Amino acid sequence: MKNFSIAIHGGAGTLVKGLMTQELELQYKEALQVALNKGYTVLNDGGNAIDAVEIAVKSLEDSPLFNAGKGSVFTAEGTHEMDASIMEGKTLNAGAVSLVTGIKNPVSLARDVMDKSYHVFLAGEGAMAFAKQHNYDLEEASYFYDEVRYQQWQGIKDSENFQLDHSVKKDGKFGTVGAVACDQDGNIAAATSTGGMTNKKWGRVGDSPMIGAGNYANNKTCAVSCTGSGEFFIRGVVAYDVSCLMEHKGLSLQEASEEVINKRVLDIKGDGGLIAVDTEGNIAMPFNTEGMYRACKTSKGDELIAIYK
Ligand code: ASP
Repeated sequence: MKNFSIAIHGGAGTLVKGLMTQELELQYKEALQVALNKGYTVLNDGGNAIDAVEIAVKSLEDSPLFNAGKGSVFTAEGTHEMDASIMEGKTLNAGAVSLVTGIKNPVSLARDVMDKSYHVFLAGEGAMAFAKQHNYDLEEASYFYDEVRYQQWQGIKDSENFQLDHSVKKDGKFGTVGAVACDQDGNIAAATSTGGMTNKKWGRVGDSPMIGAGNYANNKTCAVSCTGSGEFFIRGVVAYDVSCLMEHKGLSLQEASEEVINKRVLDIKGDGGLIAVDTEGNIAMPFNTEGMYRACKTSKGDELIAIYK
């Protein structure tokens, strides 16, 4: 049996340290722990990496604390438009959806795009038609309503501004979610899910559902899930860049991840972080923001749940 491991994130846009209360910190850590355990149990029982990342991300999507699924931020129209993606390192199979509404678990819809369609990426009305065809129940708008998110939107809704769930914000409910895992067969996978940016419009889509930008998995190298200012992560093709540095320059998982987040993303003025795993079960979780909600667990007995540096 090979080493296996899982890492998850709840976004790199954490509440600034001075504003974090003990109670809130506990809530975040509990939500991370629950998701981590669900994913780890799949791996421990001999399950696949792809199932582990899906179940962990679903758990984070079901929490109102993170900007994905239930906790998704408001768009300029006062709706919720969600993006998600999933990828399997062994086959390079991938599925992604963007601009979906009313879907409780966008990551599962992305998984269905991967498993049940010929395509990789479905968007907007088409993605919704696909969901309908696969008998997805739609949640009422009230399921996604959250007072903090609503106030966050009210603050900027009549402006041209949009707000990334990142740093220096006063409200504490930020964060795209993601998971990466390596299973007992040494297969790896990645999944990412987000509500995007508060007050976003024009069908804005970030890096999270884009294979290679916010999410990537390849058994030759690594599985990566990103969080950060999506526009920069798209320009930097961040998740694939980590893989490329490993494949073409022989960097280790840690070296490649650090190089991308602490050098290449910073060079183009992007902020954020990523979680990554390789086929040996090694984990890297670099970020260039004040914090990143994150957790990991390995079959060697290592376990970490953390928010700040
Ligand atoms: N990367 C996400 C986006 O730009 C946001 C985040 O990570 O919080 O949509």
